[in-house]
Amino acid sequence: MLHGGCLTTMFFAYNRSRKSHFLLFGYGCLTLLAVSVIHLYRHSKEIHHTQQKNRNVATQIITKHTSQKDLTYYFCSHFYPTICQLKKDTSDPTGSVRKNIKGEILALQTYQEILRENSNLSVDEYDELFVKKVYTSKRRHRIQSAFHYVQNALLRYIDKQNNHIFTDREKKFLKNRLKKIKLELPPPASLYQDEPDLFTKNNILYERLTDNSLRLRVGGAYLFTVQSWFNLIFSMSHELAHSIDPCELKFLQIYIPSYDKLLACFIKQGLVQIHNERSECGENDELSETFADWIAVQIIAETLKKFKTEFDRNQLFEAATNAVRDLCEDEDERQDISTHPSAAIRIENIFSQNPIIQTLFDCPPELNSATYCDFE
Ligand SMILES: [Zn+2]
Repeated sequence: MLHGGCLTTMFFAYNRSRKSHFLLFGYGCLTLLAVSVIHLYRHSKEIHHTQQKNRNVATQIITKHTSQKDLTYYFCSHFYPTICQLKKDTSDPTGSVRKNIKGEILALQTYQEILRENSNLSVDEYDELFVKKVYTSKRRHRIQSAFHYVQNALLRYIDKQNNHIFTDREKKFLKNRLKKIKLELPPPASLYQDEPDLFTKNNILYERLTDNSLRLRVGGAYLFTVQSWFNLIFSMSHELAHSIDPCELKFLQIYIPSYDKLLACFIKQGLVQIHNERSECGENDELSETFADWIAVQIIAETLKKFKTEFDRNQLFEAATNAVRDLCEDEDERQDISTHPSAAIRIENIFSQNPIIQTLFDCPPELNSATYCDFE
């Protein structure tokens, strides 16, 4: 049914003869077909794989009856294999995180419904109807709140650094970069006219334009996929952190000495992959992504800490899971040489080994011997 719908949509798109939309629908349908085949293939592999893993880690990770000892074990030393083997959507008290594919399918299905219910509209008019259905005021409000929360949290994070880490001038520069970012949320649909494929994508996207303005956009599918506040905060912090990442600074010819210490530590601790084809801030370099994850972890750690008094230990575990759950899926698309570190590194070394998070989950020091990188 889905694939038949895709063909209809492609035919519609072809008749409308707008290249970007034809590509959009064509790409969406091909992606769905390819993903379905890949899922079937993976499913057969996963059964065997999961059976092996289950010897060590329970499938239903946390229940009311999970002991404190087991919770510590799952979080403090097995967080990556624990959360990345989960097949179902995960929920915390603020909402769920669904698989990316679900968001993409719902976005495409929304287009199909609009097509069925309306005829003889222009492509722009179809986009406008889509945007009204998907970027509702409730969803927009949630994104706007998260954006302001993250922007302010990052400003405070810069401000609270000692003067031997950032001088007043450096702080001012970094804060101005963060303040410059504008959140762009439809309607109108024309706001994403230059990137209409974003409507069916799961991305939150930070972009620097040729006129040096900075913007943040949110894909339509992401609005279906993520309800969890914690995922929203982590994902948005990661994107906003790109405005002050070492490669952006390099591009702007700004040098901040404290960055060197942090980056040297990333390399020493293996958080940035060193390979023959690596050139710093080049196409296959992980530096900016590792930095954005590391900054996002500073923000999500403080966020989780705030909820410690409101949530019980299981809810706190669910919140931590949802913060980084989608990183497991990024791993499926990862090549040997990539711009992102592996999900294992992102989830365990950068996220769960953060000292604030370790304290939140009462991790015993013997389970974490690695140095956690910092600006000093
Ligand atoms: Zn990134």
